[in-house]
Amino acid sequence: MTPPPPAGNRGDTVTELLGQIADTGRDAARGGYSRPVLSGSERDLLAWFVEQAQRRGLDVDVDRNGIAWAWWNPSGADLRGSVVTGSHLDSVPGGGAFDGPLGVASALVAVDHLRARGITPSRALGVAVFPEEEGSRFGVACLGSRLLTGELAPKRALALTDPDGTTLAEAWGRAGMDPAHLGRDDEALARIGTFVELHVEQGRGLIDLDAPVAVASSVLGHGRWRLSFTGEGNHAGATLMADRRDPVVAAAAAVLAARQSALAHADARATVGRIVPVPGGTNVIASRVDAWLDVRHPDDAVTAAVVAEISERAAEAARAEGCELVVTQESFSATAHFDGVLRDRLTRVLSGAPVLATGAGHDAAVLAGHVPSAMLFVRNPTGVSHSPAEAVEDDDAEQGAAALATALEHLLT
Ligand SMILES: [Zn+2]
Repeated sequence: MTPPPPAGNRGDTVTELLGQIADTGRDAARGGYSRPVLSGSERDLLAWFVEQAQRRGLDVDVDRNGIAWAWWNPSGADLRGSVVTGSHLDSVPGGGAFDGPLGVASALVAVDHLRARGITPSRALGVAVFPEEEGSRFGVACLGSRLLTGELAPKRALALTDPDGTTLAEAWGRAGMDPAHLGRDDEALARIGTFVELHVEQGRGLIDLDAPVAVASSVLGHGRWRLSFTGEGNHAGATLMADRRDPVVAAAAAVLAARQSALAHADARATVGRIVPVPGGTNVIASRVDAWLDVRHPDDAVTAAVVAEISERAAEAARAEGCELVVTQESFSATAHFDGVLRDRLTRVLSGAPVLATGAGHDAAVLAGHVPSAMLFVRNPTGVSHSPAEAVEDDDAEQGAAALATALEHLLT
């Protein structure tokens, strides 16, 4: 049985909780936050989460895929089929303060609200924190939920490397976890009867609707592909233009092809946000360039067509430059539709909150393929995300946590 909260604990606000981690993982060079999975800053955030959960008398455990769970279980119920909420604490490089932590802080505050409302659920409520949601260190987004559900094979996960060449297996071991135990975890998955993730909105939907909170309808299908161009490294001054095999030139053509191909298909989005020339010297013709392509579309067949088109044009550009091209799919998530019955129930208990689709991936979308899942979005007044400009008004943050508490109350009782 979980002990009661400390007497007189009025509960923190979401803004107060986020204020406690406002200095963790700041990135002076990029602005905003860089909190890659298993880094010092991400571990500090996890320690903060554990402390906050324990302060609330929640029972904390970390499973073999590195997912942290905090349980409020006043009735001592079997954990199978529980109601679970949560999000992630890792960030993209130079990310904002809310993508991930808003959902975690709101989940903790929602527990306070449920207690203050005098709710004693017969089922347990779990707060989960998923590792490497952004995929910003090892390249596969929603790594924790993909491992949990078996969508990512442990063998493939263990071989993933970060930009410094450290494998996931090494990083896992250094963090004191056993990499041999990664993989589908039916017992942990069975604990999730229903999953609800609250997240800052990553677009302008709620600004246009003039509402603080929405219920999600779907997550756009999306994937990541690595385009590796190999040419010939050489001297920038001594090599005649006619003699060059420059992979940067071929990669540049691929970037333009991505823009043109996405524009040619309605609702498609294609982005090259990361390009790494090797060796990367100003007076050096690169020998190799890796470019990462992100493509999204509601229709998975169109996503595949856009990627094929870009790959073909990149291959042409590589041939024209005397370079080789290898395209590798690093991850793909089909368009995910959240459980319609659950979505309608939440819309009803949240007094007709608007329903919005999103172009951003989430652990809730991975889980939606396995258990009834839902998401709540909180208004972002800049409409900008994955950037220091991402924002949430204090009042909207509190309204979001209260809405999450209402949704959880409905599911728990
Ligand atoms: Zn996120």
